[in-house]
Amino acid sequence: MNAVRSIVPASEPQWIPHHMAGARVPAGDGPTCPVYNPATGTQTGVLPLADRAQVDAVVAAASAALPGWASMSPLKRARVLFKFREILDQRADTLAAQITAEHGKTHSDALGEVARGLEVVEFACGIPHLLKGETTENVANGVDAYSLRQPLGVVAGITPFNFPAMVPMWMFPIAIACGNTFVLKPSERDPSSSLLLADWLVEAGLPAGVFNVVHGDKRAVDALLEHPDVRAISFVGSTPIAKYIYETGARHGKRVQALGGAKNHMVVMPDADMDQVADALMGAGYGSAGERCMAISVAVAVGDETADALIKRLAPRVHALKIGPGDLSGMDMGPLITAQHRDRVRGYVDTGVAEGAELVVDGRGREIPQAGEGYFLGGCLFDHVKPGMRIYREEIFGPVLVVVRVSSYEEALALVNNHEYGNGTAIFTRDGDAARDYVNRVQVGMVGVNVPIPVPSAFHSFGGWKASLFGDTHVYGPEGVRFYTRLKAVTTRWPTSIRAGAQFVMPH
Ligand code: NAD
Repeated sequence: MNAVRSIVPASEPQWIPHHMAGARVPAGDGPTCPVYNPATGTQTGVLPLADRAQVDAVVAAASAALPGWASMSPLKRARVLFKFREILDQRADTLAAQITAEHGKTHSDALGEVARGLEVVEFACGIPHLLKGETTENVANGVDAYSLRQPLGVVAGITPFNFPAMVPMWMFPIAIACGNTFVLKPSERDPSSSLLLADWLVEAGLPAGVFNVVHGDKRAVDALLEHPDVRAISFVGSTPIAKYIYETGARHGKRVQALGGAKNHMVVMPDADMDQVADALMGAGYGSAGERCMAISVAVAVGDETADALIKRLAPRVHALKIGPGDLSGMDMGPLITAQHRDRVRGYVDTGVAEGAELVVDGRGREIPQAGEGYFLGGCLFDHVKPGMRIYREEIFGPVLVVVRVSSYEEALALVNNHEYGNGTAIFTRDGDAARDYVNRVQVGMVGVNVPIPVPSAFHSFGGWKASLFGDTHVYGPEGVRFYTRLKAVTTRWPTSIRAGAQFVMPH
């Protein structure tokens, strides 16, 4: 197997800068944390963790850029995004290699991540059209009314490790297209992709300070949540932190959208095409080593025959997964993000066995050539999982698929609806009635019919229900434009020569 397009590893861990006011800014003297290549276990970076003063400086840079950027015409802002879109498209390979080097996912999967982020940039290029308000002529005698959408000001994004380029691109293209300035606090695990994006935005002509990157942990996040000049927070990450971000941000008067964790179910009806289902479950369960918020982690088989047919198809394929460094061509999945997370996922497998589920494929002892000191784990498959078990209830976020057997469609639907999370789900069937009923009654934000990972395309919006989202608006698409703008309603009277006299009752 050949290595493809890897970022050239440096012999010494590299200092990773912040990006502020249009330039990379060296770290100060404060605390740092290591960044690793999860495929080798070697430290590749030293990441500065910003304190409150550094966050203040970044927010000040974003505030200084705001008046000029907010007053620029939407068309001119869009032109910067058009240029950025071209650069991103041309250098997708470079960005994907950077993603693989710090996240570990395969290069082809990383290219897919870049493509999904690019779509949002393309959507944001249409901002002159998207910002058009509504007008009503003659709401009263000589009176016209219209609405317009204005930017909020400085807005911040706090993002998770599992999509280090795409999730930031769910946020900032629309935020800046709307006339806001942006501060990104990326994950400390894989922070370097965000710096490439920042450099390319500068190259595309984005004025200094419109997009900034500040690295850090809870201290930096808290400084953003409490900063009076930060008007809105977009967050994507785990549910406990999403809840904390929502509550703390709202308490400080900010608009907040906080997307949390997931446990996505695929309902498999007895009439489904089992080969198609097996293909779908392999990709949706084990792609990106299961570290996707839209991964399918539960297959709900309706009837024992369905379950048996599924297990028969899945087991040999899970055994045969090609696992190795993401920059080797031909791999199905790479390592997990950290040694600690790998051990946590392995711990869940131990728990599932102790809880009495049947471990059909045990990836814990899987021999992985080229694994070295990387954080690899083989794919695992459980059958006969019961709703009370921890491996069913909790988000594992690894290459572990569980099969729950139910006896009817209604039981399957009730199972999905009773789960704490409601991010994504799918139903596989040939029965249009069942599919339509499922779409209508399921308590989940994103639904696929014979589509395993129903991530909405960029001109729709992405978001879960229940414990998978705190806030009112989903991200990107039309909801993104609403989130990053404030509505203003204007009522005008021309000509002023029409005199109604003083009125002391409500105009009606
Ligand atoms: P995480 O919650 O640990 O971290 C997310 C961000 O929050 C990071 O930038 C991190 O620095 C910050 N953070 C962590 N702890 C904090 C604290 N105590 N106070 C303030 N900030 C804190 O999530 P992760 O491990 O990076 O990402 C995986 C999680 O993200 C999974 O639960 C996954 O389901 C979820 N996710 C959800 C979606 C979605 O769309 N719903 C998308 C991607 C990932």
